[in-house]
Amino acid sequence: MPGGDHETWVVDLDGVIWLAEQPIAGSAQAVDRLRRAGIRVLFATNNASPTVAELQERLAKAEISVEPDDLVTSAQAAASMLSPGTSAFPCADEGVIEALGNRGVEVVDHGPADAVVVGWTQRFDFDLMAEAAGLVRRGARFIGTNEDPTHPTPRGLLPGSGALLAAVATAAQATPQVAGKPHEPMVALLRARAPGAALIVGDRPSTDGALARRIGLPFALVRSGVTSDGREPMTVEPDEEAPDLAALVERHLS
Ligand SMILES: [Mg+2]
Repeated sequence: MPGGDHETWVVDLDGVIWLAEQPIAGSAQAVDRLRRAGIRVLFATNNASPTVAELQERLAKAEISVEPDDLVTSAQAAASMLSPGTSAFPCADEGVIEALGNRGVEVVDHGPADAVVVGWTQRFDFDLMAEAAGLVRRGARFIGTNEDPTHPTPRGLLPGSGALLAAVATAAQATPQVAGKPHEPMVALLRARAPGAALIVGDRPSTDGALARRIGLPFALVRSGVTSDGREPMTVEPDEEAPDLAALVERHLS
């Protein structure tokens, strides 16, 4: 099994490693320190938009090298909910299309489809919403990669996948099953891929914190992302807090 039962930290990307494309100072050195201390770092993101190769490239630009085994996305969690041989309409980006393909799910660009998968995409517009909602109305299974309301960028919070999912849900008058943190498909994926998980690190109590509770692990909140301004609700009390990943690692390893 990848990673064996080495102690593993499950680390969020947006708001922990970077803000949009901009690396957070000290995060690469922190990951390096963990690895040199024998701790495996498994990155778990609710961002379903990029492909695995694109995530690897972004991490490389942030001076972090990572193998696909050490990346888990909500796109993969969404794909895990579908059986090989079924079909799905993606209202989502390449990350979802890739994950569906790897799962053996046929990706279709119009109906009929067994499922609709909604994830973050800048292609979202009226026609895409209408097609997705129409398929759900006609009986397609309704899956959302994640329901994060926003995602943090250097210019502030931008609409997240949850905003797009809410639009389709309203138009379809249906309730989606959600794949990513903190929901069961992501929990199952992490249990399978990170048997030695010891700590969940993230910037959002409602996703990273709730995930930690469901897996039964401590939650370390870093204030380098959405919680920095104190407006993110503390739906889950963190077990520990740090300004950023570098400070958290310093505390654990010094
Ligand atoms: Mg985050």
